[in-house]
Amino acid sequence: MGQLMTAAGFGEIVSAHEQFVLVSHTRPDGDAIGSEVALKSVLEALGKSVMAINQDEVPDNLAFLAGSETIRKPEGPIAGEVVIALDTANRERLGESCLESLGAGRLWVNIDHHISNEEYGDYRLIDSDAAATGEVLYGLIRELDWPIPEVARDALYVALSTDTGSFQYSNTTARTHEMAADLVGRGLDVAKLTAQLYHDYPFRRVELLQSLLKTMCLTEDGRIAWWTLSREAKKRVGMQAGDSEGLIDVLRAIRGVVVCAFVEEIAEGKIRLSLRSKDPAVNVCQICAHFGGGGHALASGARTEGPLENAVERLLAVATKTVEEALPDLKR
Ligand code: 5GP
Ligand code: MN
Repeated sequence: MGQLMTAAGFGEIVSAHEQFVLVSHTRPDGDAIGSEVALKSVLEALGKSVMAINQDEVPDNLAFLAGSETIRKPEGPIAGEVVIALDTANRERLGESCLESLGAGRLWVNIDHHISNEEYGDYRLIDSDAAATGEVLYGLIRELDWPIPEVARDALYVALSTDTGSFQYSNTTARTHEMAADLVGRGLDVAKLTAQLYHDYPFRRVELLQSLLKTMCLTEDGRIAWWTLSREAKKRVGMQAGDSEGLIDVLRAIRGVVVCAFVEEIAEGKIRLSLRSKDPAVNVCQICAHFGGGGHALASGARTEGPLENAVERLLAVATKTVEEALPDLKR
């Protein structure tokens, strides 16, 4: 288990080294990309040599972010004295090719906000009260009085905005808004970033939504909603990484729904589960743990075996039991 790290401790690690490698999880989201871009920019402003890697490419919907073009896929061994893993609850989520390229024998720092973080690495800073890893980073940067270049400023905002569903989810706190206010005070263009993030989707994303809506189901009590996505449907709409980001909010917004799920076929016999809860009494992280996954109490994910229909059946069994135990009074 990694040693707890304070801001001062992180400052010392950074002072004592010159070469850093930043890495985040497979299928990177706005918090993963935003955190990598932001920390890379800040460390470079401090004169450090920094490389950012990810197993999977920057998704289409985040490619507009300045600095994201510098994130590389790992190809062979990577130089760097210190590895900083961002927004990633366990090593496996970094992906095999990243783990292989990073190898062993360096200092590992684990910075995250997932309650299910396995506390890997030599040093860890895990704040599950933070809305995003970007919020944890911002706290560090401010406490250490480090510079925030414009690239980092925008990237931190992207991390925060995407992980809070535009400041709507329950992880949004006064601290979250204070951070956003400070970034805006530093000259960030809210309307421009919002438009780039949420008002510039390719048409195929709406076709994807159309396809998902056709598969939508609701349990009889109206408390669990789900939809499925087959590989065939993905092919039909030409789905790209990042296209499905946030679509699950359509299910979550249904009155009476407590848990909703996106069940996606990612490869032959491989299924990705993405779950959301609307009620703090129902912890979807626990549901996902049944399938070897994790995340947050109200937003979690897991991988399981296919076929699709079978995965739905197994998921529904666990989800129904969890909802019934947590909320025995039938609420419609
Ligand atoms: P999403 O549903 O948006 O992909 O993920 C929601 C949350 O669950 C995120 O915080 C993400 O890190 C976590 N998560 C998603 N998939 C997995 C998984 O396969 N394993 C674990 N441990 N966490 C996951
Ligand atoms: Mn995150």
